[in-house]
Amino acid sequence: PVLSELLNSRIRDVQDYPKPGVLFKDIAPLLADAEAFGALTRALAGRARELGATKVVGLEARGFVLAAPAAFAAGLGFVPIRKKGKLPGEVFSRSYDLEYGSATLEVQCDAFEPGEKVLVVDDVLATGGTIAASLDLVQEAGAELVGVVVLMELGFLPGRAKLASHLHGAPLETL
Ligand code: 5GP
Repeated sequence: PVLSELLNSRIRDVQDYPKPGVLFKDIAPLLADAEAFGALTRALAGRARELGATKVVGLEARGFVLAAPAAFAAGLGFVPIRKKGKLPGEVFSRSYDLEYGSATLEVQCDAFEPGEKVLVVDDVLATGGTIAASLDLVQEAGAELVGVVVLMELGFLPGRAKLASHLHGAPLETL
């Protein structure tokens, strides 16, 4: 089948998770299905190569599960962007607002060599706060962004519009 249809058929809608009124997109069935997970991994790896990436960046935690095998399949290294306090040594930090409170993401200061080209991968683009902070971290760490690929984009939220000013012309793609 068409990739988007295969992926969509393996994503489960969970009502009222993690709290009442939220419809959660659960990717566990996709990860558990060898055909769908393999197709997703090959698609991500293909985009990483086509965009000329030298590193694939994954966002904690589901982004790790998608980005790391894609990096391997593309013959590239993987770099994690993690929640505050998880990475040793010198880090760059970015905080962003959540519905209630805020969150902080970090990347190691020496994560990238000069001139590296980065593809950023995550599972879901919702409000865009997570990816916006991550793109700012990639820039602060001295790498060039060549693209962002997400598994899905919640089109009823303004995530794509929020990211426009953080992409610096790089493409934002949804599988
Ligand atoms: P944002 O910062 O764009 O509002 O939220 C995106 C982040 O929250 C992503 O890292 C993603 O893992 C998580 N997220 C938000 N909503 C969902 C959802 O419905 N399903 C999954 N799997 N993750 C979600």
